[in-house]
Amino acid sequence: MTHENWGQAREQLVARVGKNNYTTWIEPLKLTTLVGGVAQFEVPTTFFGNWVSRNFADHILSQLQQTGVEVQRVEFAVVRDPEPRAEVKRPAPAPTSLARPLTRPVRPVDEELPGAPLDARFTFDTFVVGKPNELAHAAARRVAEGGPVTFNPLFLYGGVGLGKTHLMHAIAHELQARQPQLRVLYLSAEQFMYRFVQALRERQIMDFKEIFRSVDVLMVDDVQFIAGKDSTQEEFFHTFNALVDQNKQIVISADRAPGEIKDMEERIRSRLQCGLVVDLHPTDYELRLGILQTKAEHYRAQYRGLQIANGVLEFLAHRITTNVRVLEGALTRLFAFASLVGREITLDLVQDCLADILRASDRKLTIEEIQRKVAEHYNIRLSDMIGPKRLRNIARPRQVAMYLAKQLTSRSLPEIGRRFGGRDHTTIMHGVRKIEELMATDSQLSDDLQLLKRLLQS
Ligand code: ADP
Ligand code: MG
Repeated sequence: MTHENWGQAREQLVARVGKNNYTTWIEPLKLTTLVGGVAQFEVPTTFFGNWVSRNFADHILSQLQQTGVEVQRVEFAVVRDPEPRAEVKRPAPAPTSLARPLTRPVRPVDEELPGAPLDARFTFDTFVVGKPNELAHAAARRVAEGGPVTFNPLFLYGGVGLGKTHLMHAIAHELQARQPQLRVLYLSAEQFMYRFVQALRERQIMDFKEIFRSVDVLMVDDVQFIAGKDSTQEEFFHTFNALVDQNKQIVISADRAPGEIKDMEERIRSRLQCGLVVDLHPTDYELRLGILQTKAEHYRAQYRGLQIANGVLEFLAHRITTNVRVLEGALTRLFAFASLVGREITLDLVQDCLADILRASDRKLTIEEIQRKVAEHYNIRLSDMIGPKRLRNIARPRQVAMYLAKQLTSRSLPEIGRRFGGRDHTTIMHGVRKIEELMATDSQLSDDLQLLKRLLQS
């Protein structure tokens, strides 16, 4: 009888909780006993029991009642005994000997979280704040205070080497210092995928879910990595939602804004946009100089007695505009070299020691590169960029490329015209004007331009 009732109740539950929740959380439940108005279910793990108890107990109870069963309470218990499952028809064994009723939520045992190690140097103390990163820094600070969750997720994005990972580690360090009991899990999206695939292969998907849904703070770095990886995306989405529902803080980073990540499911994209989205802008001269001064001070303490001539740091901040990682690399090399040869760090030494880095950052952007990136972005052929077609979906990207060529290179209009299949300079001028005009009203276009500029200049 109860078997049938549970069967009926389950059918109703699909509609109540949704197919996904049903498959994950309701289907695995086994009704073991129904004694004295208490329906007891067997669950695979403690975490599972807590989860179902917190999220679905009311639904389950009311659906059971609607099928006419006399039941006032539902309980979920882990079966410790390896013997075959207790059937409903069997006389119910005493619950204490067989099962552990879950009255209070129990923390999953302190198994090591599958996170990536944190870099001890990436703290707030060592992070230099300037105009380009002040918003991202302030948001990260707020999250690191560990107060009530005010925005979820925090979504940090920006080009390579601008400090996304540094800020995430800083949040983790700070939270851990303030609240050691907090379960903070930091990992890259790639590691997330790797763990997920491994769990699938080893049929430990429940454990995987259990761990990821039991953390207090989840940080996933470089989330663009899972775009186009369908089942990983799907799992990420469920993990994400489960944690948001529990009001747990999530921090995500990516190399571009949520709306710009190709092959990311729409629903994930929109969830990612729900919290606070902040970008780390490319560094400006002041920030680069600030970072160099901070690091140089650190090195001076390390290589005692080593002098830096005036103007060296300014020169570097001016010349190396790519990213902070390159900037750091340059300084590391300078100090190592100078200490080796026992010389002061002068502009001459910089030229000797950093010739390759300086040459690389001297690199001029070419019109071909612009055409290639724009064609890729709008999904058209590179040959159409140069060819004669006048269709709007080709002509517009072509004008975008013309505009960027004018903006980002020092080429003249006739020169640009030649690179666009021998077009006249007036055609180029018209294209550039057209884009300038449209940009003011078309926000999609101005977003596209911003993204393309960033990609081309990084
Ligand atoms: P991303 O994850 O955005 O690619 P990282 O966080 O790995 O970049 O930063 C690259 C390097 O630059 C790291 O060594 C980091 O410490 C340093 N860095 C970046 N931004 C700053 C900053 N504002 N202050 C100090 N160091 C920085
Ligand atoms: Mg990073």
